[in-house]
Amino acid sequence: MSLYNLEAVVLRSRNLGEADKIITLYSRERGKVRAVARGARRPRNRLRAGAEVCTHGQYLVFENRGLDAISQCDIVNSHRQLREDLVKAAGGAYVLELFDVFTEEGEPKGDLFPFLLAVLQALEADADLELVLRAVEIGLLARLGYLPELKACVICGKSLSEATAFSVSRGGALCAACRQNDVDAFSVTAGTLATLNYLLRTPFDQARKLRVPSDMRGELKNITVSCIRALLGRDINSAAFLALVQETVRKS
Ligand SMILES: [Zn+2]
Repeated sequence: MSLYNLEAVVLRSRNLGEADKIITLYSRERGKVRAVARGARRPRNRLRAGAEVCTHGQYLVFENRGLDAISQCDIVNSHRQLREDLVKAAGGAYVLELFDVFTEEGEPKGDLFPFLLAVLQALEADADLELVLRAVEIGLLARLGYLPELKACVICGKSLSEATAFSVSRGGALCAACRQNDVDAFSVTAGTLATLNYLLRTPFDQARKLRVPSDMRGELKNITVSCIRALLGRDINSAAFLALVQETVRKS
């Protein structure tokens, strides 16, 4: 039986049998890996903390013919806040689900792991959660090769004036003339497209200084969430919970 090392973040954790957990890790070395953490639900088990979602750790894993098994875990950052603060936890769950649904086991993708670490750090900082989520969505789309055209009309290549539109099926922005041929396109301003471009290219700690009006926030979300929905054929499950938590906090 062979062993391997992973530097990884726990994307998902679900119960198995009486005391075990199956965890889904996203790792620097191998991309997504699923493994069993035996005894991780017992109070004093040494794998307990390492099997919690959002945990960033160094994992030693046994290779098995069936499911691999965690042998040891040294925690680098528990990201405890992302489990204890309700809004941050809901944001974290949404982000982890995004990484989970858009990655395949055993297919490490370029800079996805350092991006995930930066995302967790940004969620933990008291940043503008909605803007962080938009930056995560567009950053993930770009890294996976699904970046929509944001700078020029995706059909004719014309640079865009203030009144423009976005077409999910065409995969990008449309000029006023090309919009006539796409009934599903929705209106966005050139400012929204520029903001999305900025979020894509700017580190999280710098992007947090950005002030974005609420109508533009709606357009940003419409673009990224529509692209994700089109790719998956459905919404992210955690999105409804996140919306509920945000609504509850807003009212209180
Ligand atoms: Zn055009």
